[in-house]
Amino acid sequence: MATKAEVLDFIRIYADKMAEHRQELTDLDQAIGDGDHGINMSRGFKAVMEKLPAVENKSIDEILKTVGMTLVSTVGGAAGPLYGTAFMKAGMSTKGKEELSNEDVILAFDEAVGGIQFRGKAVRGEKTILDSMIPAIDAIKASIKEGKTMAVALVEAEKAAWNGVEYTKTIIATKGRASYLGERSIGHQDPGATSTAYAFQAANEVAQK
Ligand code: ADP
Ligand code: MG
Ligand code: MG
Repeated sequence: MATKAEVLDFIRIYADKMAEHRQELTDLDQAIGDGDHGINMSRGFKAVMEKLPAVENKSIDEILKTVGMTLVSTVGGAAGPLYGTAFMKAGMSTKGKEELSNEDVILAFDEAVGGIQFRGKAVRGEKTILDSMIPAIDAIKASIKEGKTMAVALVEAEKAAWNGVEYTKTIIATKGRASYLGERSIGHQDPGATSTAYAFQAANEVAQK
């Protein structure tokens, strides 16, 4: 289960993390991309924080859609439209909701991944956001299926996300700017997979409160 207050808390904590890890994400992108991932994410979530007060009393779908639209309109490059689409799709799946059941949360995550895949045409194993996001969501599904609480599921999800981040070091990038490096991308950690792992870290922190 997730309340609206928890959804808002998640967005705020994630925004803080994007500011806090701006340099780290940018350094990772410097190695295999154009060195702007931390700048992009922190700029986007700073804009989200400015928009949030206007929608925080609206339903969860309105909140998520606002986050998505703000990211799409304020962040250039690959990640802005991808994260933006993820939040917009998650929003569309939660229409009119004031709180989310575990099934609603899982559906929202599935829609988010679907949006990223529709837009970016990537699959797991291409050294992208998806390499931490898909395992994290699979972990949530497995935990809930076993009858665990969402709080326990999110502990597992964060672990799976960071394992996914580690896995990106071992594979070749075949999507996005890092793909220009080919084999030389091996050994480097994917910035987008890393920023996604921080999203699951934020969600986990909210769930443990
Ligand atoms: P840009 O590469 O345009 O400068 P960013 O640096 O903000 O954009 O984001 C780079 C990240 O975007 C990569 O580390 C990767 O995780 C992610 N990414 C790139 N292309 C795709 C894609 N097609 N699908 C999913 N994620 C992608
Ligand atoms: Mg970049
Ligand atoms: Mg760029």
